[in-house]
Amino acid sequence: ETPIAREKGLAFYDPARDPYSPERLTLVTELRKAIDENQLALWFQPKRCLKRNEIVGVEALIRWPGRQPTVFADELIAVAEQSGLIRPLTRWVMEQALGARKVLLEAGLDLTVSINISPNNLRERDFPLFVQRLMTSHHQHRGRLILEVTETSMMQDPANSMRTLRSLDHAGIPLAIDDFGSGYSSLSYIKQLPACEVKIDRSLITDLLSHIDDRIIVKTTIDMCHSLGYQVVAEGVEDEETTELLREMDCDMIQGYVLARPQPLAHLISQLRPEAGTSAL
Ligand code: C2E
Ligand code: MG
Ligand code: MG
Ligand code: MG
Repeated sequence: ETPIAREKGLAFYDPARDPYSPERLTLVTELRKAIDENQLALWFQPKRCLKRNEIVGVEALIRWPGRQPTVFADELIAVAEQSGLIRPLTRWVMEQALGARKVLLEAGLDLTVSINISPNNLRERDFPLFVQRLMTSHHQHRGRLILEVTETSMMQDPANSMRTLRSLDHAGIPLAIDDFGSGYSSLSYIKQLPACEVKIDRSLITDLLSHIDDRIIVKTTIDMCHSLGYQVVAEGVEDEETTELLREMDCDMIQGYVLARPQPLAHLISQLRPEAGTSAL
């Protein structure tokens, strides 16, 4: 990332992209405080199984409520990665996600909870140990907390990242490959990854109805993933027609605004609770 942005042949300084700008440093200080003082929040987006026609899991997404101006998840994570705060942040997210699993169970909803892991976390030597300890003290949730990693996140340090993923896999932690097809995918990596789920990036799903090329790529990806033993999730599904197309293509699960936007846990539970009659989702 460079603080010099280039556009139409002009180069200009963009303080938001400079990790050493006063703005950025203030943001780091604020973020550290927000983590320490428990000011961050997780919102949740449901994931639906197309075969069973039911919600099978939720993905936890970081939010910074009350922060003005708004700092979106992508920027928040970028700041956390550059400043080293991603280590405490991810650990906080995992504890919160397990807390959410417990609340869901108490509401009669046995759903998987997925969280996003940064490439930096994969390079922490004690990360697998941390996860194993956490799962030991929350053993009733073993196998139900899914870690999402992007394929690009592997590329920065493939050997170490792969070692971490293997020990997580041995510990029985389910892994998902996030944003598949968005970066510099390598088919040789995907076949080696000890994952159970592949999430096809939103950029390939958005124009599925109008772009024949995207349809070919998505259908081929689904078939390839199935042959390799992965479940497939389509990300960013926004309408019913796309859902039906994905069903015809034998896609296993969908996530996206067509079901629900990310929202606070209590909201989601009130939409999903069996007592409320048939689920609204
Ligand atoms: P992601 O893991 O690929 O999450 C999906 C993103 O797509 C989320 O954005 C979600 O709100 C958005 N989305 C879901 N369905 C739709 C849809 O139908 N249409 C559109 N236009 N968007 C949809 P969000 O919450 O802003 O998060 C962005 C990214 O930030 C995430 O991408 C993930 O890479 C990262 N992130 C979020 N929370 C965390 C976290 O706790 N830890 C880490 N390391 N990264 C996180
Ligand atoms: Mg994700
Ligand atoms: Mg994604
Ligand atoms: Mg993403």
